Amino acid sequence: MQTRPAIPLNIAALPKVDLHRHLEGSLRLKTLAEIARNEGLDLPSDEDQLQSLVQLQINDPRTADAFLAKFQVLRMFYCSPQIIRRLTVEAVEDAAADNVRYLEINFSPAALASVGHFPMAEVVDWVLEAAIEAAERQDIGLRLIAGVNRHEGIDLAEEVARIAVDHFDRGLAGLSLAGNEIDFPADDFEGVFRAVKQAGLHVTIHAGEWVGGNAVRKAIENFGADRIGHGVRVMEDPLAITLAKEKRMPFEVCLSSNLMSGVIESLDEHPITQMMAAGLQVTLNTDDPGILNTSLSNEYALFLTHSDFSIETIKGMILTAVQAAFIKSSEKKQLERELIEELF
Ligand SMILES: [Zn+2]
Repeated sequence: MQTRPAIPLNIAALPKVDLHRHLEGSLRLKTLAEIARNEGLDLPSDEDQLQSLVQLQINDPRTADAFLAKFQVLRMFYCSPQIIRRLTVEAVEDAAADNVRYLEINFSPAALASVGHFPMAEVVDWVLEAAIEAAERQDIGLRLIAGVNRHEGIDLAEEVARIAVDHFDRGLAGLSLAGNEIDFPADDFEGVFRAVKQAGLHVTIHAGEWVGGNAVRKAIENFGADRIGHGVRVMEDPLAITLAKEKRMPFEVCLSSNLMSGVIESLDEHPITQMMAAGLQVTLNTDDPGILNTSLSNEYALFLTHSDFSIETIKGMILTAVQAAFIKSSEKKQLERELIEELF
């Protein structure tokens, strides 16, 4: 399976927008090896040996569990505020190096706080400060999204939601629901998401990734989702398609992620083509560039390789992502103007 086609220069040069990128899945292998060595972690400090623990390998089972297992290893690295800041800065720098001009980073305060038993509110401060400073240095637009996992329970989600609301408008624009969709349905979290939405935050729900389109409908109707993370199985549910079209609901599609986590068998069979043909609002994103060894340019190159679409379609998708960004409409207009000038 070809997951790293040569990236055409015209794709690398496009100014891009990434709305779905997890901080914990965006770490540099070289940095992780250095942390393992310097902090004396019970992990290999050799990049080659570390790679199979933190990056999905071609021989790994293509399952949600195998994917989520990498995050369990990655949790061991967040041992100090300095490391959390450094990893955040590097994630922003890597996006900027790929010509991402507007980036939303999704991070799990609980994951980053776990090893050092740090107060989650402080972790959120560290990530926000480091990310905002890095984005200013790189001259790119940025917002952060606090994430909660289904499998980590409602109490933790409520605490993260409270902290997210406290940090609203300080660079933190939304709350997301991720995690194991198969064994932990989203229903219990409805109230938490309704409440943050009332407080002005945006909401994005991972849904219709490992389970069917019904989950997409629930995310829209019950959670008030502003965007759907993945949502690729929407095509199995005609009612969900109709609802998503009515609401002009943006989908955060991530090709390599879907392939490597077993959502699809092959990229040629990815439903993105049908989603676009159905008139859905489709954006392309990285999900976890570190774990998947990908970049946004690589995702666009894969899209072109495995579909009949052209670079003109990609330009339209980038502008769709601008409209779906968790920023004020005046900022959207400004970003759109800047990108259109370069894209066309
Ligand atoms: Zn995700």
